[in-house]
This record gives sequence, C-alpha cells and structure tokens, in this order.
Amino acid sequence: MDVPLSPPSWMERLDAQRQDIRGQGLYRCRRVLNGRQGVRIQIDGQTLTNFSSNDYLGLAGDSRLEASLVKAAAQYGVGSGAAHLICGHSVAHHQLEEELAGFLGRERVLLFSTGYMANLGILSALLGRNGLVYEDRLNHASLLDGARLSGATLKRYAHASLPEISQEQGPDSLIATDGVFSMDGDLMDGKALASIAAVSGAILMVDDAHGIGVLGETGAGVLELQGLGPNDVPILVGTLGKAFGTFGAFVAGSEVLIEFLIQKARTYIYTTAMPAAIAEATRTSLRLVQEESWRREHLTGLISRFRAGAQSLGLALGESASPIQPVLVGDSRSAVSAQTRLLNAGFLVVAIRPPTVPKGTARLRCTLTARHAVEDVDRLLDALSGCPELRQFKA
Ligand SMILES: *Cc1c(COP(=O)(O)O)cnc(C)c1O
Repeated sequence: MDVPLSPPSWMERLDAQRQDIRGQGLYRCRRVLNGRQGVRIQIDGQTLTNFSSNDYLGLAGDSRLEASLVKAAAQYGVGSGAAHLICGHSVAHHQLEEELAGFLGRERVLLFSTGYMANLGILSALLGRNGLVYEDRLNHASLLDGARLSGATLKRYAHASLPEISQEQGPDSLIATDGVFSMDGDLMDGKALASIAAVSGAILMVDDAHGIGVLGETGAGVLELQGLGPNDVPILVGTLGKAFGTFGAFVAGSEVLIEFLIQKARTYIYTTAMPAAIAEATRTSLRLVQEESWRREHLTGLISRFRAGAQSLGLALGESASPIQPVLVGDSRSAVSAQTRLLNAGFLVVAIRPPTVPKGTARLRCTLTARHAVEDVDRLLDALSGCPELRQFKA
C-alpha cells in the first residue's frame, strides 16, 4: 500500500528557502562583538580595525555619553515603563526634543524609538489610499515599507533622477528621499526636489539618518549643506543611533505636523518610550556634536585621503563625499571573498549584497569615522590593494 506523501512541513519549507539563499552567496550571519563599539573591536578573540559602523563621529563608545547614561539611570531608573502618551515621557525626553528643535531650527521635534518606526509612523499617518508617494529607488527600506503600509500609491523613480509628478495627482502627494543614500554615500539633489515639490504642491520629506551630525558647518546635516530650510523640506527625519552614537530617532517639523503625528502615528502611540537615560546620553551627544567640530574636520580629511588612495589603486568607488565609501565588486560571492581576505588581514569591512543593494552591485561598504587615524586609512588601502576581487567591477 502506498504511503501518502505528506506535504513538506513549515520548517522543511523554510529550510529549503534558507539553503537556496546560501546557494546564491546571500546568506546573512551575525558577528558577535565582545566589548564596546569603536575603531578597534573584538570578534571571536580577534582584534579588528572596524570600517563598517555608522558611528561616524566616534561617539558610541565615548566615556562622557556613558557617564550621562549611568547618572541618568540613577535618577530615572532603566525602563521608561510606558508609552510617551501614557506615563513614559520624562523631562529628559522633553528637553532632548526641545534641544534638537533648537539645533535644527524647527518649531518642534518628536522622538521615536527607532528610525524604522519613525518612517512607518509618519508615512502611514500622513497618507491613506488616496495618497501618492514618490520615492527614490535606493531609499531606505523603512521609507518604502512606510509607503506600503499607508496604502498610498507608491511610485519609485530612478536613483538620483527626479520624480515626474502627474498633473492629475490628488491633494495628498509626498516625495520621500534619503538625504545621504545609505549604501552609496551620495547625496540627494535637495534643491531640485524642493522646487519640484513647490511647483506641484507635494510635501517633501527627507530622511537624513546618515547626514545629521556629519554634514554641514554645524552638523545640522544635508539640509544645512544644501542651504534648505523648513519651507523647502517640511518633514525632516533623523536617527540617533548613527552619528549621535546612542539610539532612537526623531522627526523635526512644524507645531502642526508634530501635534498631528502625536494624534495619528501608530508607531509613536503604541510603543514604549525609549529609556530616559538614553535621552540624557543623547543630550550630551548633541552638545558634543555641536562643540567638537574637529570631528567633522578630521573626517573630511580622512574621506579625501581614502578616495585619493582608492582611486590610485584603480578601485571602483561611488560618487560619494560622505563617510560612506562603497568599493564596488559586482558579484556577491566575490564580495564575500574580499570580506574574508580583509578579515584575515585584521579589518572588518562588511560585504553588502542584494536585496539590500541592486543585483550585480555587491560591494564592500567602507565607512570612516572621526576616531580613525590617518594610519588606519593607509593600512586599509594597503589591505584593499591585496584583494584581486576588487579589480573586476564593470559598471
Ligand atoms: C538606519 C536608517 C534608518 C533606520 O534607523 P534605525 O534607528 O536604525 O531604525 C532609517 N533611514 C535610513 C536612511 C537609515 O539609514
């Protein structure tokens, strides 16, 4: 008698998909760090020079942030205990919001627990099924997911081009873009986007996760660098887990925008507030971002040095003047092989592969920070010159 074949179980199906991902050279694994974030990190007993973090100003491991956190934990305890709208919103959160608003020249700021949640919450609060969102193809996943969640029609335009806004658009249209593109390091064309928005009546939203703290004279980000104000970009998102070295995110805008989001943004309303001690550490960080402009100056010098060195080695760099400096490889397996070669030489430079980046554009995403020394960059260039995988990229 035939034994009826049972269909593969859930776990069997997941396992098959997982093996398929592995077969394509796209398997993702975590690395377990021992100790604090910084230029020198410990992984599996090996000390590596780190060229992969988003800690652009080198503040994540700063002892002054640590001291603020510890001091605030003694005052506020560890957990915030509730959402902001219940009883989790402390003086520390409130002061941080006011100080960020002052720093950015905006009426109000609203904290979110993460940048991912900020983007989901803002887009789904502002847009419904009648909405129309225009997004750069290379926007961060959270901006794309926010548009999907809102139910609005999503139109993606080619990277670094401009959206063509249809004449029959309804009143609810929004253009959303990264300020600094996270895997390429290039900048939005803010002036052009702002003028398209002004002409068409769309509202412009900029997610400056990688620019805040890093770009502009005072570190106010890509808008400061490109000379754009609140009228050009009414919705400005920033994150605190990158250059600020802590955790969390915010949106900056008008009184009306912020009060509206407090009423409507579900990822704000239905989630626990970030710990007050994190907000206090971030206040210290905001002070250092403003006072220690040497961090931005040193970083600018490292970026030029890296680019000049990589160009003379014939490496395929992106069009980037930011601390994000991708070295294009193309094929995912070759990118992983270069990553392994660099690990063996004592460097952490993580390979970024599809679907995070488009097919055929796997890369080593090198990031520079204010805590790197010139010698670190020179040693990295030396190690990159020993990777044959990096010489094959064809655009
Ligand atoms: C990192 C990042 C986010 C997500 O911020 P988190 O606070 O890490 O959730 C959002 N947008 C962009 C452009 C980012 O690079």
